[in-house]
Amino acid sequence: MRIVSGIVIIMLSLMSSGCDQKNAEKKAGWIDRERIQNLSSEPESWLTGGRDGGETHFSPLAEINDSNANELGFAWQYFTDSHRGLEATPIFVDGVLYVTGNWGVVFAIDGKTGKEIWTFDPEVPGQWARNACCDVVSRGLSVWKGKVYAASLDGRLFALDAHDGTVIWQVDTFPDRTIPYTITGAPRIAGQNVVIGNGGAEYGVRGYVTAYDLETGKKSWRFYTVPGDPKKPFENPALEMASKTWDPDSRWDIGGGGTAWDSMVYDADLNLLYVGTGNGSPWVQKERSPKGGDNLFLSSILAINPDTGDLVWYYQTTPGDNWDYTATQPIILTDLIIDGKNRKILMQAPKNGFFYVLDRATGELLSAEKYATVTWASHVDMKTGKPQPLPQSNYDDEAKLILPSPAGGHNWQPMAYNPHTGLVYIPAMNDPAIYEKRKNFEFIKGINNQGAHFSEGTITSEIGDHKLDETGGFLLAWDPVKAVPVWRHKLGDFIFHGGVLTTAGNIVVQAQDDGFLVFYAADSGKVLHKIQTGSSILAAPMTYLIDGEQYIAVMAGYGGGPFGYFPVGSAVEKYGNEGRLIVFKLGGGDVPMPDVLPALGPIPKPPVLDATQEVLDRGAVLFVKACGECHWNINGGYPDLRRMMPEVHESFKDIVLGGQREALGMASFGDILSEDDVEAIHSHLIKISWEAYQEEQKINK
Ligand code: CA
Repeated sequence: MRIVSGIVIIMLSLMSSGCDQKNAEKKAGWIDRERIQNLSSEPESWLTGGRDGGETHFSPLAEINDSNANELGFAWQYFTDSHRGLEATPIFVDGVLYVTGNWGVVFAIDGKTGKEIWTFDPEVPGQWARNACCDVVSRGLSVWKGKVYAASLDGRLFALDAHDGTVIWQVDTFPDRTIPYTITGAPRIAGQNVVIGNGGAEYGVRGYVTAYDLETGKKSWRFYTVPGDPKKPFENPALEMASKTWDPDSRWDIGGGGTAWDSMVYDADLNLLYVGTGNGSPWVQKERSPKGGDNLFLSSILAINPDTGDLVWYYQTTPGDNWDYTATQPIILTDLIIDGKNRKILMQAPKNGFFYVLDRATGELLSAEKYATVTWASHVDMKTGKPQPLPQSNYDDEAKLILPSPAGGHNWQPMAYNPHTGLVYIPAMNDPAIYEKRKNFEFIKGINNQGAHFSEGTITSEIGDHKLDETGGFLLAWDPVKAVPVWRHKLGDFIFHGGVLTTAGNIVVQAQDDGFLVFYAADSGKVLHKIQTGSSILAAPMTYLIDGEQYIAVMAGYGGGPFGYFPVGSAVEKYGNEGRLIVFKLGGGDVPMPDVLPALGPIPKPPVLDATQEVLDRGAVLFVKACGECHWNINGGYPDLRRMMPEVHESFKDIVLGGQREALGMASFGDILSEDDVEAIHSHLIKISWEAYQEEQKINK
């Protein structure tokens, strides 16, 4: 007996020191298809960016629910050592949270304690920030069979060992590193491949997605989302067909756009990969494809065979895009009973303001109704599947007030679908914009080339039949079967708020720009609880369970498109922007508040202005083109250049042309600006500094 138990003990100890340890090592981040298909057996997990295969952002956990949400409080936080936008939803598997931060940095964190397990920094050159329209963000990663797949802003795709973060393989996903592509989206697993897209349409690129073998990183296929110059051979028959929807004399040199910068979802049953594509490059169709046309596959949902890269079907949400109406917004897959029939559907609320339900096997349009205020089109024709543009949408000859704005009725912030309530929760917005076509459009490589800009003007309270009594962000509960809104909450004047989580506990969770994480009843929309976090949050919360305790986690860091502006009354304006992952649990305490930012000092006295009106005018135009995207010159994430200190004025040229502050995120513009250009920009800045200085002196008198 003793001998036997001794042998057992020896065997056990051998197993635990040898085999088990090996298994435990092998099993870090071990997600496979079977696990995703049996996800109902592990409610505690969150295995894709949207938790499940359909990316619903719904969790079956209900330990936290509509009757106890008011007891939620702080559990722990992890600092990401960054001050820029955080947009990713963490993945949680076997006790570990995996998530991306700025530039594509990866974090593996213990889900119970918040202790860092490992981090990986792709070390992106600071110069690459210049190619990113909307901050150096990353919207997440994928975990698959012991590997973490993540991409860096500068286009490298990494397969990391989930156990310790070491690089197993890496590939350069860009065809040419002189073209200003960026990656901000998450790679997705589809069949035997990992697939990744990219962004950069406004900078003059041609969109595509590429698939790489999961094990080796060898390229399997690449699918361009828009045709190239028809004088060259087409990469595939789909692009030859698409080319007939473009003017043969299109601006092929600007790339066309159609970048797949966010949503991709894989359906294992149908073996189809769905890809949302972006806007045209440039925005103004007259400049891009002068004779018009639908311009496939801009602003479309593509169904692609993930083994071959062949197009199976497509649906274009905005033919002939002229408004930056991307269809890259998060796609959700689920089954719905529509007209008595069980349909495998996909749904999307793209920027153009219509909520789409499509049969995802065939691409058949099932419904398309307005979820936000839409003035550019009257409706979507259900026979042709095409929206019917209104005269108001055409700004070729005069500036027009149009909704949605280029920010969209909904942007990248994840929406969520709750099968218990049957509702989709959309972080939506009404944002009127006056579109104006630029006269004498000139493409400049390496900067944002929209071809349009936004006039300052009065936003009238009515456009045709539309009353604009409610602008700003709102949270909308939408019935995707009846295609009608069910409840809504106005979120404040600022348009961008957080992505959404919903659970079987009948709750919806969303954060706001004012720092509050808000809990709603999923069925009624009743506010259940609010927690002040001290951060303006844009990302979507997620949830997981360890040792019987449910947690809610969210990445907290303001940024993205509006990083140059801190909204009035926002948490970022008050507390700054210390990036962190904040985690909540029942019975937790208050979130530790960051220190309140010190008040701005007086505007320093600017140097003497010595420039002709001609130079000042040129400087003003160049400033908007080359600098204005980041430097809004108000209280924001980038320095207000009316507040430059004397030593900054002195080294202005070295900073702008010489890259003296590259390490701080201020790239060199030596490749596109001359010394004369920089002098003109500097003169313009001295002029507006004097205006601000004198204004302040007057007030202080
Ligand atoms: Ca865009």
